[in-house]
Amino acid sequence: MLARRQYGSQKPLVTSEALQADITQENLLAGAQQLEDFAYAYEGRTRIIGSPGHNDTIYWLKDELEALDYYDVSLQNFFTVAMISGQINTFLVNGVNASGGLLEYSASGNVTAPLVVVANLGCNATDYPAAVSGNIALISRGSCEFGLKSALAGNAGAAAAIIYNNAPGGFNGTLGAPPRPEGDYVASISVSQEVGTGYVESITGGANITATIDVLTDIQNTSTYNVLATTKGGDQNNKLALGAHTDSVLAGPGINDDGSGTVGILEVAKALSKYEINNAVTFGFWAGEEEGLLGSTYYVANLPANESAQIRGYLNFDMIASPNYVHAIYDGDGSAFNISGPPGSAEIEAFFENYFTSAGQNFTATAFDGRSDYGPFLEVGIPSGGTFTGAEELKTEEEAVAFGGEAGIALDPCYHSACDNVTNLDLGTFELHGKAIAAAVATYSTSWEGFPARNTTVLRRSVVKARKTHQARHHRSRRSLPLLK
Ligand SMILES: [Zn+2]
Repeated sequence: MLARRQYGSQKPLVTSEALQADITQENLLAGAQQLEDFAYAYEGRTRIIGSPGHNDTIYWLKDELEALDYYDVSLQNFFTVAMISGQINTFLVNGVNASGGLLEYSASGNVTAPLVVVANLGCNATDYPAAVSGNIALISRGSCEFGLKSALAGNAGAAAAIIYNNAPGGFNGTLGAPPRPEGDYVASISVSQEVGTGYVESITGGANITATIDVLTDIQNTSTYNVLATTKGGDQNNKLALGAHTDSVLAGPGINDDGSGTVGILEVAKALSKYEINNAVTFGFWAGEEEGLLGSTYYVANLPANESAQIRGYLNFDMIASPNYVHAIYDGDGSAFNISGPPGSAEIEAFFENYFTSAGQNFTATAFDGRSDYGPFLEVGIPSGGTFTGAEELKTEEEAVAFGGEAGIALDPCYHSACDNVTNLDLGTFELHGKAIAAAVATYSTSWEGFPARNTTVLRRSVVKARKTHQARHHRSRRSLPLLK
């Protein structure tokens, strides 16, 4: 008897080529523009957790995914403390307007008082002289969290704190969501290394510097959501998970960090809905990454053991369109940085190495140190990987040879800044990494052949705790010599 030809809703099985072809610069840019529009619709021009621009992002993702009728979509609610808004109303030094950055979660405060130099790096209570009481503590960046410095300044009675950079230029940063066990924060702002060391020299030379700091912040208990979308089809016992974060920092709309990853995985989720798959796929859109991997940590912590065991691998995409880019792959095999992931992580790294090689592109490695949303997955033994195009690190001469662009300039000069908008993206890189996501999703949703079985009894991996990485987020070192094709 002849086989009956199938009509109706049968979709073709996904292939890497087909899914990659569905990822276009035009659609990636349109998604990025949508996220910028959400941020710019409000006065704060941000998508920081708890802000209206962030909430609009979450509801838009939910609507886009539900419209595909291919996924079970849910919002996973969790609560955190969030800084809804904040600004420096006045920053005067000796009566003259000065320029400083507001550190996220700074307390509000309004004070006019002398600057007092804090010893060493201000990481110990003993670094704070009695004279800081009632005055403004002047502290160098380095060695410990900004939040610890602000709390110790507060404990010493300081009315405000200025943290100056330990590298040329200024910086944006976060104190981390309160409460902080060491104590309450004071009004805290950042200044450049040049400005800060200038103050220190003047003061140690005997001069008096008086500053006026007037900061107003709104910090509230906030409800937010992860957006989760799992394919209705495919083997749920051999699932691929992947994710990106939906929130920005306060300073800007966060279109490369991590609008690029958000839109990249969303476009792949949309394309995938045209195809049949063998293995289920879960897309995770995490909230609160910038505040300490809050959303991904919450997701993993609340994942029942049997569901955790169903996840064969996790892929993370956090900044994939950096303007002065490198093509970096998480160092899953530990060959470059000596921190390897659970079995399977090396295979994921090799997958992306093959992808870039096939695309005729050079690639390099980035340390697998737990500083983005893959961290909580590694901690419970889920093999992980992903790609990354660079943050505030300066491009090396070797990288300029391998990838083009400018040596001595940050891979993303707009990292955590107001200018991280759609004009900050390298669209060719966005497309290349978008297609890398498509290739990985098509491959693993078809077969895990050659991939190690999950060992669900592995010991918890010891990784850098998320809470320890506030000021270091994205500061990922790379091996000095990129691999050449
Ligand atoms: Zn990020």
